[in-house]
Amino acid sequence: MIGGGITGLAAAHELLTCTSDSDDVVVVYEGDDRVGGKLRTSQFAGLDVDEGADAFLTRVPHAVDLARVVGLSEELVAPTSARAAIWHRRLHEIPNDLMLGVPTSMLAVARSGLLSPLGLSRAALDVVLPKTSIRDDNLGRWVQRRFGREVHDRLVDALVGSIYGADTINFSLAAVPQLSTLATSGRSGLRTSRKLKANTTQTTAAIFGAPRTGMETFAQAILSDVEHRYSVRFRLCTGTTVTSIDADGGQWRINDEQFDGVVIALPAHLAARLLGGSLGQQLDEFECADVAIVTARIPQDEWPDRCQSRSGYLVPKSVQRAVTAVSFTSQKWAHLQPDDGSQVIRISLGRDGLPIGEFDNAGLVSLAAEDVSSHLGIAIDCSSSRVTRWKDAFTQYRPHHHVKVASIAAQLPPMIELAGSSYRGIGIPACVADGQRAARHLASAGSR
Ligand SMILES: Cc1cc2nc3c(=O)[nH]c(=O)nc-3n(C[C@H](O)[C@H](O)[C@H](O)COP(=O)(O)OP(=O)(O)OC[C@H]3O[C@@H](n4cnc5c(N)ncnc54)[C@H](O)[C@@H]3O)c2cc1C
Repeated sequence: MIGGGITGLAAAHELLTCTSDSDDVVVVYEGDDRVGGKLRTSQFAGLDVDEGADAFLTRVPHAVDLARVVGLSEELVAPTSARAAIWHRRLHEIPNDLMLGVPTSMLAVARSGLLSPLGLSRAALDVVLPKTSIRDDNLGRWVQRRFGREVHDRLVDALVGSIYGADTINFSLAAVPQLSTLATSGRSGLRTSRKLKANTTQTTAAIFGAPRTGMETFAQAILSDVEHRYSVRFRLCTGTTVTSIDADGGQWRINDEQFDGVVIALPAHLAARLLGGSLGQQLDEFECADVAIVTARIPQDEWPDRCQSRSGYLVPKSVQRAVTAVSFTSQKWAHLQPDDGSQVIRISLGRDGLPIGEFDNAGLVSLAAEDVSSHLGIAIDCSSSRVTRWKDAFTQYRPHHHVKVASIAAQLPPMIELAGSSYRGIGIPACVADGQRAARHLASAGSR
């Protein structure tokens, strides 16, 4: 395995599990001195606060099942019932009855006060408009054509854009399965989303989960599990950046060791360097967006009442300056409340089309403070803060991304697999599933 992020660890775990009868050794090469990649947790305000991902979806099985297998079930906590808002001149509760921002009820959207009367009327046209072609595979354009610009900007782009660090006007519809199902299942987005929602089993179970001690614990638990169960067949090499993969008599050579197969569990722009040639060029064409998280501590007496009982807010593209979202971490997670009543918040900056590379850390902190102060109408002091930069963190799934990924996969040399956030989904469950897929593919190809 090349890469000890969640994808590489899930792949190693799966490979060891599904080849448990063999003597084959699985090695994970990780450039950093720790595993986890974008799952990184460190102390802030005396608490274990994530610097990257802070939760995973539990309504799809892959991550939650792996967490159970590695003994983490008891450690998983759910966010509080605090609800998120959208900032558009003021904080608006995110309406109920949305499907990733697409309305299932116009009444709920109207009540939120988020759309203008004109925006609401335009959105209502969805029910009479003819079917919209999705041949261009463009998420933002599909939403705009069905519901108009306000639903796109203030709801769908705000929600989906914050998950993918994206500008959804240049993003693949097929990459967001919920919305692509919606677009292909009927004419009207509103009526189809209502039908799909009615057919979904409603549950009161939490949608997200995270280990109480932070997301890095997930990576550590997978590592401990393979070290414990497969001590003889597993080896971790941290501090080892792989620079080449060489063909060697029907096998692959990495750092002077020979392997039957390789999973490259790296984002596309890094995998490109290892594969080189035409494959490398194709992978290098995948664009990426940088993001940064400014984590700040706000004293209790400075925390505004109107922010109580909220888990944070998103900022729509039309009114963004640098900040795209703010998580009220201490209100989102019951176990992340400092003893002195202060609030920990995580401020996200940057996305595709909103570059942050030119700012140094001090610049990012002042941008974060200015934006959040103006949103909340109070002077936020971010002097007690830390900055985490994630360069090239989010591969942009441009229209027809899935076609390019399938074509690249078909060109890979034998017994080499690509897996991770650049290819078949960016969220942690998708990365786990992709790592496991790659491992099973190698195991079955190797046994033939
Ligand atoms: C700020 C932020 C917030 C996020 N929030 C969420 C969230 O709440 N929920 C969610 O589901 N997802 C979230 N994500 C997305 C998710 O965290 C990532 O998609 C996922 O963790 C990627 O895992 P990975 O293993 O594919 O890649 P990475 O985590 O990037 O791991 C790749 C690893 O490979 C190593 N490496 C790189 N090059 C080499 C080399 N040549 N040789 C050896 N090792 C190498 C790196 O050091 C790294 O450890 C977030 C992402 C970010 C950046």
